[in-house]
Amino acid sequence: MTTKEKIIFPRMTRQREMLLSELMSLDTHPTADELFERLRRRLPHISLATVYRNLEGLAASGRIRKLETCGRQARYDGNATPHAHVRCVRCGRIDDVEDVVAGCAGPLPRELSGYEILGRHIEFDGVCPRCRFCEEQSDNPKNEVIFHNGTEKTQKPEGG
Ligand SMILES: [Zn+2]
Ligand SMILES: [Zn+2]
Repeated sequence: MTTKEKIIFPRMTRQREMLLSELMSLDTHPTADELFERLRRRLPHISLATVYRNLEGLAASGRIRKLETCGRQARYDGNATPHAHVRCVRCGRIDDVEDVVAGCAGPLPRELSGYEILGRHIEFDGVCPRCRFCEEQSDNPKNEVIFHNGTEKTQKPEGG
C-alpha cells in the first residue's frame, strides 16, 4: 500500500490487491482456478468471474503476465519482468528459468517476419522433477513384473 502503487493503480480494490499478493507469493504460475481456490479461504465471497476479471485487468496493464499455451488453461505470472519459462508437459506447472539465449536474438525475427517485435516469450517444454520422480517410482515395479520370469535387468526399457 505505497503511494506509488496508489498512483499507478488508483482503482485497486481490496480483492485485486489480495489476488496480486497471492499471485506474487507463488512461483508456480497458477491458473485462475488455482488462485480462486486459494483466495476463497480468505475471501469467501469472491467469485471465479471476479478472479478472471481482475487477472485480465492486471495483465492488460502489464502488472502481471498471462501465459497462454495452445489448448491449455492460461497461467499467470506475478513477475512481469522478462524471463524464460520451462513448462512440465505432464502436470502443466511452469517454472522460471534463466533466459540463456537472451543474447542470441539479434534482428532476425523482424527481418524474417516483417513484424515490429514488441516482446518475446521463451518457453521450454520438459518434465518437472516431481513428475520425473513419480515416473521413476511407477516405472521400477512395472519393470520387475515384466522381467519377472527369467532375465533380470538385462533389458533396458529405453534406448540408450
Ligand atoms: Zn510435472
Ligand atoms: Zn515466470
